[in-house]
Amino acid sequence: MNRKEQSFFNFEAAPCAVLHYSEIGLKGRNRPIFVDRLRHQLEKTTRPFGTGRVQKLPGRLLLGLGEEVDWPEVCEALTRVFGLAYFARALRVPLDLDFVCEAALKMIAPQHISTFRVRTRKGFESVPISTREWNTIIGGQIQARRHLPVNLEMPQTTVTVEALPDEAIVYSERVPGPGGLPVGTSGRVAAMLSGGIDSPVAAYRMLKRGCEVVFVHFHGAPYVSRASAEKALDLAGILDGYQLGSRIYLVPFGNLQKEIVLSTAPTSRVVLYRRFMARITDRIATLENAKAIVTGESLGQVASQTLSNLIAIDEAVDTSILRPLLGMDKEEIVSEAKAIGTYEISIEPDQDCCSLFVPGRPAVRSASTHLRKLESAMKVERMVEQTLEESAVLEIRRGKRPQAKYLSEVFSLENSSASCEAESIGSDNSKSVR
Ligand code: ATP
Ligand code: MG
Repeated sequence: MNRKEQSFFNFEAAPCAVLHYSEIGLKGRNRPIFVDRLRHQLEKTTRPFGTGRVQKLPGRLLLGLGEEVDWPEVCEALTRVFGLAYFARALRVPLDLDFVCEAALKMIAPQHISTFRVRTRKGFESVPISTREWNTIIGGQIQARRHLPVNLEMPQTTVTVEALPDEAIVYSERVPGPGGLPVGTSGRVAAMLSGGIDSPVAAYRMLKRGCEVVFVHFHGAPYVSRASAEKALDLAGILDGYQLGSRIYLVPFGNLQKEIVLSTAPTSRVVLYRRFMARITDRIATLENAKAIVTGESLGQVASQTLSNLIAIDEAVDTSILRPLLGMDKEEIVSEAKAIGTYEISIEPDQDCCSLFVPGRPAVRSASTHLRKLESAMKVERMVEQTLEESAVLEIRRGKRPQAKYLSEVFSLENSSASCEAESIGSDNSKSVR
């Protein structure tokens, strides 16, 4: 037996997942930063499944999979890693036709296949093989050993061989990734998360474009039920699946609203609420080193979202307010919410704090001068400060919703036995809040 025959006899292809990125490929000299971040997110995502390290290969990443790894579980987790264009469970072998043929046969062994084709692709022009020749030879071997018909136009299964300088990656089932950019490559934002349909979609879009997202929810305690806050926690839990490690600020807004109500006519109230929400979120953004505020507003969707009202809200803070859904129709937002799995939670009944003490027909054209005049009769800074001090911050880890004892306390329910992860931003932290 010569050396090759010997090693072939001991042949064991290494099980792995090949991971392809798309848009990152366009980042020029910044590309390594994006690839490193993607690798970081992938390792964080897959660690609990007993997978190996993520290795950088030219133009792609490779995740080591032991024989014990539950692929459907890993596969499901990978569909939430932004930056991935597609991925596949694969076998990694030396760049040698015999090894590749064996790997291809092993790869498709458990599959029921009606027709197939082989597609060999070179990672680099300089890889010393003929892809056409490899396709024919590998295809011939599969035909001979599995008696399967080839279909070049519409095959049920495509066996792909990625030929790299020293090795080949072989796979047969390609899974689409979520696209976008790796979380953490675009900075951090503070997203205002209501219990509604729109704001989770807005936060999702920011995550998809590479932002880390800190969530901020305003609840109407003590004047409404805790339903909206519970929903916000559930929604943040789903969105955390994309970044793995989130914070949500729960801000009691009822008393501040009461102060607004006592000094202003009903028509201006919603925009005033939003200006205060923006100010408080701005303070949280500073605390969290977030560079912008995000909302789920869409132009003209409701009276508080006309162009002049959105501008009036912008004017309350210096920080930029980003509105990723600005140009979307409600129906488009709804189908995205269904696709990401937030819709069912969002449509559960609740009472948002913004619906407190507001008229059926709020003003559609708010002038900033008028709003500023109304606010000059209030102690704006003190109201913001006090509300912040009564807020709490909860940690969400790996999509696991925290038990909110805090909610039981502020909504005066009896069940206060739940374990509490809320940390009140009270006097202890008030220095950093200010
Ligand atoms: P929907 O429009 O589906 O009822 P929504 O969350 O968009 O839900 P809107 O009344 O349209 O609710 O509010 C506009 C935006 O203001 C929201 O997308 C959200 O970013 C912010 N917002 C409203 N209410 C709250 C709240 N209680 N907590 C945090 N953010 C809120
Ligand atoms: Mg809305």
